[in-house]
Amino acid sequence: MTWKRRSFLILCLPAILALLGAPARAQVGQKPPAMGIPESPSLVGDTTALAREAQDWLAELVKINTTNPPGNEQAAAKYIAGILTKEGIPFEILDLTPGRSALVARLRSSIVPDPSKALLLVAHMDVVGVDKSKWTVDPFGAVIKDGYLWGRGSIDDKSMVAGNLAAFVALKRGNVHINRDVIFLATADEEQFGDASLKMLIAKYWDKIAAGFAINEGGRVALKDGKVHYVAVQAAEKVSINVSVTATGQGGHASRPSKDNPVVHLAAAVEKIGNYTAPVRLTSIVRRYFEGLSAIEDPETAKWMRVIDEPDRAEHAQRVLSDANPSWNSMMRDTIAPTMLEAGIRANVIPSDAHAVLNMRLLPGDTIDVLLNQLNKLVNDPSVKLEVMQDGGLAAPNSSIETEFYAEITRVCAKEFGGAPVLPYMSTGATDSSQLRLHNVQAYGLRPFPLSDEDEQRVHGDNERIPLASFAKGVDLMTRIVAEFSVTR
Ligand SMILES: [Zn+2]
Repeated sequence: MTWKRRSFLILCLPAILALLGAPARAQVGQKPPAMGIPESPSLVGDTTALAREAQDWLAELVKINTTNPPGNEQAAAKYIAGILTKEGIPFEILDLTPGRSALVARLRSSIVPDPSKALLLVAHMDVVGVDKSKWTVDPFGAVIKDGYLWGRGSIDDKSMVAGNLAAFVALKRGNVHINRDVIFLATADEEQFGDASLKMLIAKYWDKIAAGFAINEGGRVALKDGKVHYVAVQAAEKVSINVSVTATGQGGHASRPSKDNPVVHLAAAVEKIGNYTAPVRLTSIVRRYFEGLSAIEDPETAKWMRVIDEPDRAEHAQRVLSDANPSWNSMMRDTIAPTMLEAGIRANVIPSDAHAVLNMRLLPGDTIDVLLNQLNKLVNDPSVKLEVMQDGGLAAPNSSIETEFYAEITRVCAKEFGGAPVLPYMSTGATDSSQLRLHNVQAYGLRPFPLSDEDEQRVHGDNERIPLASFAKGVDLMTRIVAEFSVTR
């Protein structure tokens, strides 16, 4: 730290402390709170004015109703096109289905592009529906109140569309030399994963978006008591696969029950499967996650996180952590959740078949056949059949946590948030990043806006809102990450 920086810190300390206590009360246009440390300008300059502009973009995007279905993302794509036109950045609107489009724009580093080096900034424009009666504001009004911008998509994922756009525009305005192509991509149909989704976009337009690295939603900057508690960078995700369970037997009149009633066989099978616990397999990402998290957990929990891999204590540690938190349990093993049951048409008729659906979440690299084999042995009933259903997820590989981009994200976040732990993370739910990873893209999930658990829980729920101070901080963070990784010094 230079002398100048140190005196700046001393002079500003009371102001920083005051901000730390009240980040959510920041007013529109106010400089974002440092959330831990003083700021220095990014490689592309100060982002205060840019964040204010991006907040207006976010508000306008929230006002464009892109509830999926039907999506109507083309309207949002056209709005973004208007911004890029003003900035003099060429773009393309990529049509998918009627009314549904994605938008792509590229800043070139050289005449001949090298996709393996390119950085893709990706976010989706569609949102999930609302139950208007439960909202205290108009969900598509982009109301600014109490230091928040309220509305569907204000977090998921229009904040990221606006944040990525700001980081992208900053490179153009900064008039810097970049050492890799930077691609801005606003996608459609993430929430339903249908005919206009990233999968279709890749199938139709891969050459326009091919990249070696990507940043997407899926990770988080966790805020606790006004301070950044940790940063989780998603580098892998579990694979969702549905399996049908069918029991068959002799149907007939319920007044003469027999031993091969399929309802009874199905119930017994579901009971066994539902209570099955798959063995633990710790991936390198999950190991690193617990290692990092142990620095901020309570001493008792931290103690078990530290010995999760030690031969004599691992088993007990894994049990304690699995019991403590369903997410941790799911990060350590394949899981199975019976979710649907169906049998019978009349109260007095024994049906000849009965059905259940299991939602399985596999660790990346695990295969469904091995697990099904295990379950068949466990059920041990020839009248019960397990079959993989067609709508299963894809077993995408992990993103490496040894890449230069992962290292850059970690470095920038640690610096920006006063050394808060930056953890690699495997999400138990699915994101579009699996599609990118299947195409050899090192994709990382990080929504850069510091958010409390309370605000995170509003995603897909009622009264979704983003603190304005967090939005500004996230714009700054994303701008720094993108600039540090792509600007030639
Ligand atoms: Zn999302």
